[in-house]
Amino acid sequence: MSKIVRISKLDWQTYDSLVRETSPVVMLPIGSLEQHGPHLPLDCDSVIPTAISEHVAPLIGGLVAPTITYGYKSQPKSGGGNHFPGTTSLDAQTLIFVVRDVIKEFARHGVRRMALVIGHYENTMFVIEGIDLALRELRADGIHDMKILRIDYWDFTSQHTLDTAYPDGFPGWPLEHAGVMETSVMLHLHPECVHMDRCPTHGPVLFPPFDVYPFDPARGSASGALSSAKIATPEKGRLMFEEYVTGISGALRDEFKLAADRSRTAR
Ligand SMILES: [Zn+2]
Repeated sequence: MSKIVRISKLDWQTYDSLVRETSPVVMLPIGSLEQHGPHLPLDCDSVIPTAISEHVAPLIGGLVAPTITYGYKSQPKSGGGNHFPGTTSLDAQTLIFVVRDVIKEFARHGVRRMALVIGHYENTMFVIEGIDLALRELRADGIHDMKILRIDYWDFTSQHTLDTAYPDGFPGWPLEHAGVMETSVMLHLHPECVHMDRCPTHGPVLFPPFDVYPFDPARGSASGALSSAKIATPEKGRLMFEEYVTGISGALRDEFKLAADRSRTAR
């Protein structure tokens, strides 16, 4: 992998000249601090989009912004619920305003191309709102040329990979919380943080077609996982991760009309 350029590691003058001279895509990973079953660490949803961004950015001459490591509240049907120890979440308006403010700050620096890479299912609509508010306020300030891609990285999983990774059928992304994909990708990236001996073996958690508030934890997943990740392997994780890096870098090249070789050479 060629050199990663993390914005936080640059001095302001180098950053300023990179933004002005190369019009880089600024990649902003947006994760969570959320329980991921007994076998995965709390920071999966931040680690995975950060790693994807750090692999994609050098391929497209991009920069990586510090990850937003807190996300919207974990929901029982997609994240186990917000009652688990360790799960540490933001109110919706907090996340919306963090996303809005960060986009507007990058715009003030002269950044006009951004890619927001979401790692936590519950974040999506609030990130969309943050983008919408930022663009509306930027337009009012006379800035009309900011373009942002929002990416739920799992949408880049091909049918072929799903068929390979889930020979008995794919349960759907919400039930994949701490499931085969996240566990496999973590086995590929950070095997030392994955404890397969503690991996739940229960089948998918079943929910009624409605929600009850307040949520009763007894009606949710006791382990925190929503399906078993027993068939996760580092090989599956590598296949998925490489697909995400290839797919996302291709999408960014197409959307931002970047030259095929815009990879950053060491400065
Ligand atoms: Zn997750």
